Parts: sequence; structure tokens; C-alpha cells
Amino acid sequence: MGKSELLKEVEERCRTAELPLKEGATNLVFGKGSADASVLFVGEGPGANEDLQGFPFVGAAGKNLDKLLHSVGLTLDAVYIANILKYRPPENRGPLPSEIMAHTPWLVEQIRVLQPRVVCSLGNYATKFFLAEGKVEDMEKQPGITGVHGKVQDIELLGMKILLIPLFHPAAIIYNRTLLPLWEKDMEIVKGVIGQTRLV
Ligand code: URA
Repeated sequence: MGKSELLKEVEERCRTAELPLKEGATNLVFGKGSADASVLFVGEGPGANEDLQGFPFVGAAGKNLDKLLHSVGLTLDAVYIANILKYRPPENRGPLPSEIMAHTPWLVEQIRVLQPRVVCSLGNYATKFFLAEGKVEDMEKQPGITGVHGKVQDIELLGMKILLIPLFHPAAIIYNRTLLPLWEKDMEIVKGVIGQTRLV
């Protein structure tokens, strides 16, 4: 079975799994992009637009992420995009530890199939999850995105070696334009790293 079929199979199992937040959601938001990508972007969780359409990053933050990808010459053919949470939390509140614990085994399954060389974590939740190497109880101890954005980190997630590049969340940049120059600088770092890495 190829990666695309394997991902579909994981998605179908995820769809039938009992998960917190599933009941109040319209759609499962599993992921989008290429199953053969070497770069994985991981956000926090679906918002209203994502919940309605069933795909990550299709709202305002998604438009900003599209710009980000475009600025480093990337399209959906070369990347895969997923979230920590697979279902939308009510009123877009942040994920609870119990939800992260229940949902991230599905992200780990996605990563096992994708085997990305580079993971770009978007914002605090995804960054702390990877810095804690998947141990949700250790997330609280991790530094926030302001201290680690753009710093390339070698991490290990359940036996998988991953090059992590934490980035500001595209939604944060919409609300705080002073982050834009920092984000552009971080994009240069991403560009440099993926330039040395086979993309697909
Ligand atoms: N923000 C996220 O973190 N993920 C999405 O899918 C959309 C907005």
C-alpha cells in the first residue's frame, strides 16, 4: 500500500473512533496536502470554516498560511498540513490536555505514514507538543513560541527523528502585525533547511 492509501486508511479509522469534541463538530478535519511530502505543518485545531469544510486551514489563518507557503515556493503538492485536534473545540477555545491526549495518537499515526523530514509547528500548542516529544504532561514546562520560533530543533517523537522548526501561528500574525518581520525571517530559515532536504 502507498502512503496515500495508508493515510486514507488511518483517516477512516479516525472517522469512526470515539473522540472528545466529535459530538459537537460538523466534520472530521484530518489533513490535506501530499502524502509524499517531506514537510509537515501542524496547527492547533479546526475553526468554524475548517469544521464546515472538513479541511485544515481554509479560513483567514489558512489564507495567511497559503501566503507563507507561496513565499517559500511551496504548494500543497509539496507539503502536508494537519492539526493537533481533529475536531473543532467550542468557541475556538484552546485544546484541553485531555483532548490533546486523545487526539494526538492520530497525528502520530499520520506522522508514521508521512515520515516527514521537517515539521513546522504553528503556534504554542503544536510547538509544545513536539518539544515535549509527545508527552502531553510535559507540555506545560516547554518554552513558548516567542522564545523558540525559527530555532531548528532535533527532536524524537516515539522513535521517529524529526527536524522541528517552530513558527508563529498564521492567525497570530493577522492580529499582531509586528510579528510579520519575524515570521518572514523564520521563513528564510525554513527555506534554507528545506533547500537542503529532498522535498518529495
Ligand atoms: N487554525 C489552526 O490551528 N488550524 C486550522 O486548521 C485552522 C486554524
